[in-house]
Amino acid sequence: MAFEGLSEKLNQAFKRLRSKGRLKEEDIKEAMREVRLALLEADVNFKVARDFVKAVTEKAVGKEVLESLTPAQQVIKIVRDEMTELMGSTNARINFSSKKPTIIMMCGLQGSGKTTHSAKLARHFRQEGKRPLLVACDVYRPAAIEQLKVVGAKVETPVFEMGQGDPVKIAEESLKYAKDYGYDPVILDTAGRLHIDEELMNELRAIKARVQPHEILLVVDAMVGQDSVNVASSFDEALGIDGVILTKLDGDTRGGAALSVRAVTGKPIKFVGTGEKLEDLEPFYPDRMASRILG
Ligand code: GDP
Repeated sequence: MAFEGLSEKLNQAFKRLRSKGRLKEEDIKEAMREVRLALLEADVNFKVARDFVKAVTEKAVGKEVLESLTPAQQVIKIVRDEMTELMGSTNARINFSSKKPTIIMMCGLQGSGKTTHSAKLARHFRQEGKRPLLVACDVYRPAAIEQLKVVGAKVETPVFEMGQGDPVKIAEESLKYAKDYGYDPVILDTAGRLHIDEELMNELRAIKARVQPHEILLVVDAMVGQDSVNVASSFDEALGIDGVILTKLDGDTRGGAALSVRAVTGKPIKFVGTGEKLEDLEPFYPDRMASRILG
């Protein structure tokens, strides 16, 4: 699971801090050097790690902390609070529209887990008593439509498809279908590419302009670390996203993406994928994630 190395290193730093009893400013600075290294080793973005340590240090070297009876405890609490803040403080929810159906546009690079997570989301909404509709807008690979049907069937959610037609038209038609048959939300599984290119972005922009989704979710693979953060920045600049689904957290031993996405892009992680199975989806809670990291 993610964060093993980071957790271990942070706990070592805190253990040393606790063993000191009363703390001097230099003790805190030394601990923060260790924290910074641990973050960098976990593949946290360089600037994010620097700013994080700076913020913690500023709060921790105050008189109140140094003169308290449990200074190390206080420093650890500051780290925990800052880490929660770094990931967005609260659980960011899906923007549901008061006018049905809510349209959720899923985008991301090929292999990031977009199709799997479209189905995971459908399952999640079904469990909330909703009637989602999956839409096959990835028209370039017949296998993609087939894959969506397979996972759709597993989560008992119908798939709207028009074969390899025009994705903008398909998205538009799916909305009529959803309105006629009472499906809500509508989850658009759009095409991915191996790399970000203008053609892909143009297509996504065209779908966005035509159907005006209430929520654009970017699916990124946690295992590629900083690359996933760069992908998120690029998509946000080119398309504008509302949030991120960070997938394959089960295979990411370092955890840097989870800690960096929000700070770098300004967009929250809304869900995390924690396995290949369709039930392996969790809403993202920054405080719980911070607790998981800090033990
Ligand atoms: P797409 O090309 O973006 O639609 O990606 P897919 O949904 O086809 O997923 C690509 C591969 O990643 C598949 O083999 C999935 O089973 C796998 N996958 C997706 N999400 C997760 C996850 O959270 N954890 C793990 N371990 N594998 C995942």
